[in-house]
Amino acid sequence: MDCIFCRIIAGEIPSAKLYEDDSILAFKDVSPQAPVHFLVIPKEHIPSANALTAENVGVVAHIFETIPKIAAQLGVTDYRIVNNCGEAAGQTVHHLHFHILAGRNLGWPPG
Ligand code: AMP
Repeated sequence: MDCIFCRIIAGEIPSAKLYEDDSILAFKDVSPQAPVHFLVIPKEHIPSANALTAENVGVVAHIFETIPKIAAQLGVTDYRIVNNCGEAAGQTVHHLHFHILAGRNLGWPPG
């Protein structure tokens, strides 16, 4: 298995877990870009948003319903959700993931 996030899901690589259930996992980003920076991923290996289909997109709704609960546990109500799709957009790990950034003022537009 050469996907680093699949290896985190499998427990082969340690992570600072914030939430886990049968279909998704949330953990702190190892290189935080804000005081609060965590990732939420599906356990199914979906390479990017471009690989979402009618069959697998339901997990994205579950991710989005779970994000506010994790944020609330971390004491934040204002946050940014980011998905980088494709290398030119900044995607470095080819397993669908959503960044949640909070705890500082976030500029717009992003770089
Ligand atoms: P992206 O550039 O959108 O593909 O985001 C990948 C994110 O994964 C980056 O913010 C990395 O810091 C983060 N990351 C890479 N490896 C790990 C790891 N082992 N544990 C936690 N976060 C990681």
